[in-house]
Amino acid sequence: MAPSPNVPAAPRPYTDLDKLFIAGAWRDGGSGETAQDVNPYNQDVLATHVLADRADVDEAYAAAERAQREWAAAAPAERAAVLRRAVDIFDARHDELVEWCQRESGSIRAKAEFEVGAARNITEEAASFPYRMHGDIFPSDTPGKENRVYRQPLGVVGVISPWNFPLNLSNRSVATALGCGNAAVLKPASDTPVTGGLLLAKIYEEAGLPEGLLSVVVGRGSVIGDYFVEHPVPKLISFTGSTEVGLGIGAKTAGGPRLKRVALELGGNCPLVVLDDADVAHAVDIAVIGRFLHQGQICMSTNRIIVDASLADEFTERFVDRARKLVCGDPLDPATDIGPIINESQLAGLQQKVRRAKEQGAQVLLDGEPDGLVMPPVVFGGVDPAWDIALQESFGPLAPIIVAHGEDEALRFANMSDYGLSSAVVGTDVERATAFARQIDAGMTHVNDMTVADEQHVPFGGEKNSGLGRFNGRWVLEEMTRTHWTSVQHAPHPYPF
Ligand code: NAD
Repeated sequence: MAPSPNVPAAPRPYTDLDKLFIAGAWRDGGSGETAQDVNPYNQDVLATHVLADRADVDEAYAAAERAQREWAAAAPAERAAVLRRAVDIFDARHDELVEWCQRESGSIRAKAEFEVGAARNITEEAASFPYRMHGDIFPSDTPGKENRVYRQPLGVVGVISPWNFPLNLSNRSVATALGCGNAAVLKPASDTPVTGGLLLAKIYEEAGLPEGLLSVVVGRGSVIGDYFVEHPVPKLISFTGSTEVGLGIGAKTAGGPRLKRVALELGGNCPLVVLDDADVAHAVDIAVIGRFLHQGQICMSTNRIIVDASLADEFTERFVDRARKLVCGDPLDPATDIGPIINESQLAGLQQKVRRAKEQGAQVLLDGEPDGLVMPPVVFGGVDPAWDIALQESFGPLAPIIVAHGEDEALRFANMSDYGLSSAVVGTDVERATAFARQIDAGMTHVNDMTVADEQHVPFGGEKNSGLGRFNGRWVLEEMTRTHWTSVQHAPHPYPF
């Protein structure tokens, strides 16, 4: 039967994803060093890349600087149209993108769908930015003066992203930078060069983005990272990754010789607080998904569960029971809940954290041996909020349960962290839970929902060592632009001399 003319043919999958994308050319990097991109579940080699060197970074930044001037001067409709076409491509290639997320970063289907949807939605939001780049006119105390404030693009934005939600976390900087009239040079994480960068280069190239406005340099952070950050061209470094690396980048951008802006979206240690009036079944649902989605490798993952003593036994029993039943294995199998940890060194770090929690006296309520890189859930009871397992971001399927006696103690425990990204509170009295939520030192708190959430039009970001700045909506528009106060003196006025 002939295909219906109303159903668009599925696009042919992208090719050449074993090349880097520098200044409009798909080519090898100049370092001569190769790196294999592997599927963390079965170690299949997905692509082999010849990595970028400093000259590639120079070329990418120079092309971006050249292309940005014309892009900033283009009509808003022209810039918006490229981003809208990119949205259409996200839709048309949805399944291809989802499968890449599953294969390259070990995502189960639900997480991959969430990621591709988030990347698509922020692109749609960014398509509105060309028309939202408006300024203000303010009065002046000086007779005859007019104060105009113009909103301008920054120029070139350097983007560094992590491996855990690579498509979305790279694109939330790239799409919004482009929407504001900037160019972007992107350095994805070594474990996810395709979903964290090269697929985006393909999408924007297909959408008609002018040459040079986006380059993707795949290279090791330890080799080109400092050069990428300290380079004179970028006016903003938009970094998403660990607090440890982010603090170093913050110091480099603040230390000169060339000051530049920095946006830091860093690690989390997100508490879920279960108040004494919580619906326990609902609290368990929230805790299980918030802790174990993507194997716990999300900055917003529930890193600590703080439960009121009156509900602790019932909550713990139900939580352990649910965690035990989670299906671990191949992320491509629709039945799987928990896929692989990204790499050997992350797994080894998690096993060390388990050993340390046991040494410090945590009761092991659920445990299991890893199979390859697939680590089953580990649940700890009787956890002291000052132990390492509670104070450090685990970034894996480790769930410490902490018992609190009353609201005041629960709040004190929740705020006992150097991090302040996301958080959640569960209680049936919604206004009481909301009052509690507002006292948590965090950028984001969800009442009666999980700690993992992101919507393209509401502010996303952290307090304390979880970062600086906000993504999404008008907040990222501010991050990606600068103001220029231009005063106009319409009539001469007297000066003191
Ligand atoms: P990471 O800090 O090790 O790496 C992040 C990126 O930085 C990678 O691209 C890496 O190559 C690069 N990098 C490493 N050293 C560098 C250097 N010296 N100069 C420049 N770049 C360098 O983080 P990761 O392990 O990829 O990701 C996990 C971490 O990211 C977790 O802590 C997680 O909480 C955090 N994270 C935060 C958010 C957020 O929005 N706040 C989102 C996702 C992940």
